[in-house]
Amino acid sequence: MTTTGHPQHPDGHGAVDPQHGEPRVDDRVADRVDDRVADLFAAARAAQSNAHAPYSGFRVGAAVRSESGTIYAGANVENAAYPQGWCAEASAIAAMVSAGERRITAVLTVADGEMLATCCGGCRQKIREFAGPDTPIHACGPAGLRVTFTLAELLPQSFGPESLGVDAPVS
Ligand SMILES: [Zn+2]
Repeated sequence: MTTTGHPQHPDGHGAVDPQHGEPRVDDRVADRVDDRVADLFAAARAAQSNAHAPYSGFRVGAAVRSESGTIYAGANVENAAYPQGWCAEASAIAAMVSAGERRITAVLTVADGEMLATCCGGCRQKIREFAGPDTPIHACGPAGLRVTFTLAELLPQSFGPESLGVDAPVS
């Protein structure tokens, strides 16, 4: 699971436009489950099916792979008091931390619909706490992988543990 260089669809289609940096998903190419992310995708899809999203109807699943290789998944959890809800990425990260792990080596999110859905700004920062700039973040649709980014591409020039004199997240 490597994503050095520019993010691109695994078959080379849907590559990021180098002039504008915008993901350009080629709709002639069907989304598919890439072997490299199949386990993350399955975990995220299972969590998505349990999302609590009665208000937005926008169900999201996320999965993170930890340094040990374990996959932790989560779903978005909305609340009648809207600001109290949280994102799928937060659920997955909380599961990882609760299990005693502190390092993310890969992230995958899945959402329904035709639009490419990437992590919100808040989640990019949450991931940053436990991941490095080269950590791949796979944005998926219902049928599979759409675009892979690195964390640095989604959150450039970021503020993180090192900014406060902490070398890196520790287990
Ligand atoms: Zn979010």
